[in-house]
Amino acid sequence: MSSRPPVTHQSPPAGLGRRSLLKALGGTALAGGAVAAAAPAAASVRADNVVADVIVIGAGYAGGTAARELSAQGLNVAVVEARDRIGGRIWTDTFAGKRIELGGGWLSPDHHLVAAEFSRYGLTNAADVIPTTSVMPGANGGFDRLLPQDANAHLGELFDQFFAGSETYFERPNDPRYRSDLLAQLDLLSFTDRINQLGLSDVDATWLHGYFAAYTGGDNTSRAMTSMAQWWALGGWNIEGWEKQTAFKPTAGMTKLLQKMLDASPRAKVYLNSPVTAVTSTSSGVQVRVGSNRLFTGRAAVLATPVNTWKKISFNPGLPAVHAAATSEGVGVGLATKLWIHLAGDVEAVYAMGTKSSALPLMIPQEALSGGGRLMIGFAGSSLNVSDATAVQKAVREYIPGATVVGYRAHEWGRDPYALGGWGLRRPGQLLRQLPGIQQPHGRIAFAGGDIASGWNGAFVEGAVETGLRAAQQVAALIN
Ligand SMILES: Cc1cc2nc3c(=O)[nH]c(=O)nc-3n(C[C@H](O)[C@H](O)[C@H](O)COP(=O)(O)OP(=O)(O)OC[C@H]3O[C@@H](n4cnc5c(N)ncnc54)[C@H](O)[C@@H]3O)c2cc1C
Repeated sequence: MSSRPPVTHQSPPAGLGRRSLLKALGGTALAGGAVAAAAPAAASVRADNVVADVIVIGAGYAGGTAARELSAQGLNVAVVEARDRIGGRIWTDTFAGKRIELGGGWLSPDHHLVAAEFSRYGLTNAADVIPTTSVMPGANGGFDRLLPQDANAHLGELFDQFFAGSETYFERPNDPRYRSDLLAQLDLLSFTDRINQLGLSDVDATWLHGYFAAYTGGDNTSRAMTSMAQWWALGGWNIEGWEKQTAFKPTAGMTKLLQKMLDASPRAKVYLNSPVTAVTSTSSGVQVRVGSNRLFTGRAAVLATPVNTWKKISFNPGLPAVHAAATSEGVGVGLATKLWIHLAGDVEAVYAMGTKSSALPLMIPQEALSGGGRLMIGFAGSSLNVSDATAVQKAVREYIPGATVVGYRAHEWGRDPYALGGWGLRRPGQLLRQLPGIQQPHGRIAFAGGDIASGWNGAFVEGAVETGLRAAQQVAALIN
């Protein structure tokens, strides 16, 4: 099974159906030198069964980092990936003649592990497009046009209130449990709970609800405000640090670094189109089943798939209680649909923030196109059907009246079978219940993934790299 195809529309909107842009399974391997395509299914004992020192499950940044580290230790690594590409929730592709990112797209100068990897492989970043106008909810139920610096300054004031106290309760932002003595009640608060504590004006409350809705997938009641308070702390407890989260875009695209890491790992071999269905662990090793009967056998494994997907894999013995609870509750947000929208004409660089029930709670300007028009990134609310081009155009016109959508591309991460959600955003109570237990190995299985990072948790490649490094160390200790 391939991942759910992205939704693509070109104008005229009416009459055009959805087009699958992914290749069929079993196609040529996409990644560099050490990549193999899955072979067709055969008899029960298969000639293409694989024996390696370590089996890494998932070729996203967490798995790729672990594989690179283990390969550098002289271990033979089999990286088993369900999709027909590497990258996972990072997905560099093209649309309207431009390179686009259907998953994560931005990096911060505060992402120190990623910055070190960039310099190691000679990669560079470029600044993102600067908005010229901010469209924000107004007092009359409509939208106001503001100078971006004025909108940011006011957002900063609201965030100061919302995250007040985080200098203390997240005194060490990379070690979020350092002051766990202060967190018992705070970690139970949802975004809505915290907004309700502040006694804000209606407009200010609408701003915060609208802003956070883009991150919570429209459900501000089910995610923990401490998850974002930690990001606020990691950025230095101010709006300038917060803004840095989206400061950079990699010049060669988000997937390039991962490709470089794997290319630099001669002992790591990537097997695409290889969905893992079962993991059996004994005191001396692991057996990983792909599909119905292909076996990968190793001395240890790294499980580097999104937490939300663990429940789809059969583990023997079963996962520990903390891991089982995390995958059953979910960490990746259920609604995480990112759109790339091509607007016609001379469109200014509008940044727009909606209300919590907007069809597009967030729209971010991207580059103007040389042939006319501009690209925009949007994040969909639950009321937007991204297969309906007319609805997408209507949603954009909330912010830019008269705008014409030439075409768009969308990916629904919540429906993607190998993500089952978007970026991670902890639920109330998960910080104290899950960390650090979820980072501990289970027999010969180590765990990795941005969803379980200590530092830049959930929505950052930085967190995935952090956990890949940790998992490689744990595996080395397990098998030596
Ligand atoms: C829309 C969106 C926007 C984001 N924006 C940003 C951003 O701007 N900046 C940023 O730094 N981060 C961003 N993120 C978060 C970032 O993409 C993730 O934190 C990071 O990519 C997670 O890496 P990972 O390796 O932990 O997981 P993944 O990238 O999800 O990798 C896991 C891999 O496991 C594979 N897999 C799943 N199930 C199986 C199975 N059964 N068998 C084999 N393989 C399997 C998957 O196919 C995938 O390749 C965003 C995420 C999304 C979805």
